[in-house]
Formats: sequence, C-alpha cells, structure tokens
Amino acid sequence: MYDLIVIGGGPAGITAAAIALNQRMETLIIAAQWGGQTTYAMQLEDMEGREVVTGEPVLDAFRRQLDYLGFVRRFETVTEVHPEGDAFCVCTSDGDRFETQALVIATGAKPQRLDAPGEVRFSGRGLSYSATTHASLFLGKDVAVVGNGRRAQWAAASLARKSHKVYLVAPEPLVPTPLAGKFATMQNVEVLAGGQVTEVCGDRFVEGVTVAMPDGATRDLPVKGVFVKLRRTPNSDLVREWIDCDAQGHILVDIHCATSWRGAFAAGDVTFVSEQAMVHIGEGAKAAISAQHHLLMLKN
Ligand SMILES: Cc1cc2nc3c(=O)[nH]c(=O)nc-3n(C[C@H](O)[C@H](O)[C@H](O)COP(=O)(O)OP(=O)(O)OC[C@H]3O[C@@H](n4cnc5c(N)ncnc54)[C@H](O)[C@@H]3O)c2cc1C
Repeated sequence: MYDLIVIGGGPAGITAAAIALNQRMETLIIAAQWGGQTTYAMQLEDMEGREVVTGEPVLDAFRRQLDYLGFVRRFETVTEVHPEGDAFCVCTSDGDRFETQALVIATGAKPQRLDAPGEVRFSGRGLSYSATTHASLFLGKDVAVVGNGRRAQWAAASLARKSHKVYLVAPEPLVPTPLAGKFATMQNVEVLAGGQVTEVCGDRFVEGVTVAMPDGATRDLPVKGVFVKLRRTPNSDLVREWIDCDAQGHILVDIHCATSWRGAFAAGDVTFVSEQAMVHIGEGAKAAISAQHHLLMLKN
C-alpha cells in the first residue's frame, strides 16, 4: 500500500511527487507521458533585453530528483481509479493494480489547437499558449487572441493594458462573462466575431494572421503575437463519477487542493485554477502537503 499515488507527469504531478518524496512518503507517480505539455521559451526579433521568468528551472530540478529515483515512476495510462474503504485502488493499461491511502490527480487538460498552417512553425516565435507568461513581451505591439471563452477574454483584456492593439478572434459567440460586455468600450480591442484563423504568417517570427470572416471576407491582421486560447477539456473522466466536477468537467477543489472525496486531492489544469505552469508547480506542492496532512490524521 502506497502513502500517495500521483496520476499525471506534468508540472503539477511532478512537483507533487517530488515534494511527497522529500517528506518521506511512500510515493508512486504514474504518467502516460513524462513532462506534460509546455513550450516555455519565447524568442522574438526584438526582445528588448526582457527575460521571462518561468517555472521551468524549478520543475527541472524536481524532474531530475524523480529521474534519479526511477522506481517511483511508472509510464503507464491509468484506466481506472476508485475508492476502497479509506483507501484507493488504481489500475493501469498494463494490467497493474496499486493501492494507496491518498491520491493526487494531476491529469491536465486537452487543449484545442488552432489547427492552422503556421501554428507549429511559429510556436515560441510569436505564437503562445500562455498570455500570463508572455504578454509582457508584446508591449506596444499589435497582437491577436484566438478564442471565445473565459480564458481568451481574460487574455485579451490583460493584453489590452500592454499592447497597442488587440484583435480578439472569436470563432464562436463570446461566452457571457463579466468581461464580455466591456470590450465594446475598450478602444484598442477589436472583436472579430465568427472569425476563423486560416494561417499564421511570417518569415522567422509571426508577422500576421489571416482570418476568414463569416461574410466571406478575409482579414489580414498585421500582428507580432498570437495567443491561442481555445477550448480546454479537463482530463477528469477517471474520477467524474465519484468526485465533484463543474459543468465543464474541472475537478472542484478547495484552497488546500482537496476534492469532494476525503483523501483525494487534485492540482493543475484538471482543476479550474488558471493555467500557467508556475501556478501549477505551486498547486502540485500544495496538494502533496495536504495529502501528507491527511495521512498524519489517519496514522495518529
Ligand atoms: C502547447 C502548449 C504550450 C504551453 N506553453 C506554456 C508556457 O509557455 N508557459 C506556461 O506557463 N504554460 C504553458 N502552457 C500551459 C501549461 O503547459 C499547462 O498549464 C501545464 O502543463 C499544466 O500542467 P498539469 O500538470 O496540470 O498538466 P499537463 O502538463 O497537461 O500534464 C498532464 C499529465 O497527466 C498525464 N495523464 C493524463 N491522463 C492520464 C492517465 N489516464 N493516466 C496516466 N497519465 C495521465 C499526462 O500524460 C501528463 O503527464 C502551455 C500549454 C500548451 C498546451
């Protein structure tokens, strides 16, 4: 019986497992893919000496600790997790079955990609998936945000305070949020309702995006940055039947990363907490510490 099983090998899961091991908990981390999904580095033509501080060096240090302790990692897909009395049972695609007293679910989310020519080529060269991380590199520049939901709207509003002009390319109607009605009064934000990005253009770096409008017109936006903020589906299928989730499937957690099921904690993109690797490193650490407190309660 393990003290803790962490499901997921992204920033949240790696941090949770490393912190738990440092607390001498009997820990196992199971991940389908090691490292999760990240492109931290952004190169731009004129970086103006700016450097973005990311969570990567911290994450790298935790990752190396786990690489060194190979026996705590399993590269498998978890196919089933369920509570068994005060403990949990975790089954994998390789037919393994593990028992644990506490659980951290850090299975991330599936991001919808732009799926347009240029997306891969310009990723990290003007195309970003994290406005929180990279917005400050686009001071005074023109940028596009693609998406219609809460995350796209926050990204557009935040960029509007730094950039010269922000195009919010919304393939579907804006989701009603407290911000949605405010764009009309923001002078440097233009909402392209129903727009579909058909290409990200440039030579070495992003120099523009082409947008097909619903009336058949084409808009060529001369932007230096593109922020992809499309739908993100949380990977919570494993636990949705017994742990409370919101309507989109995000696992609901309290400030200690505790879920609705005692002994089960969650961290990272699978929860509602805003997506940025640095934030999820902190969330993973918090989940591990909360799991430790849970174990201390069980054992004392
Ligand atoms: C393309 C891209 C670029 C990004 N760039 C940046 C950036 O520059 N800066 C930034 O701060 N953020 C960036 N983000 C966001 C950031 O990467 C995520 O917020 C962060 O990775 C979330 O961490 P996580 O640990 O919650 O999940 P993830 O990193 O998604 O990791 C999930 C883990 O769970 C595992 N998993 C899922 N289901 C199972 C299962 N059933 N069994 C076993 N394992 C499972 C996966 O294999 C993976 O290891 C980017 C995101 C994307 C998609």
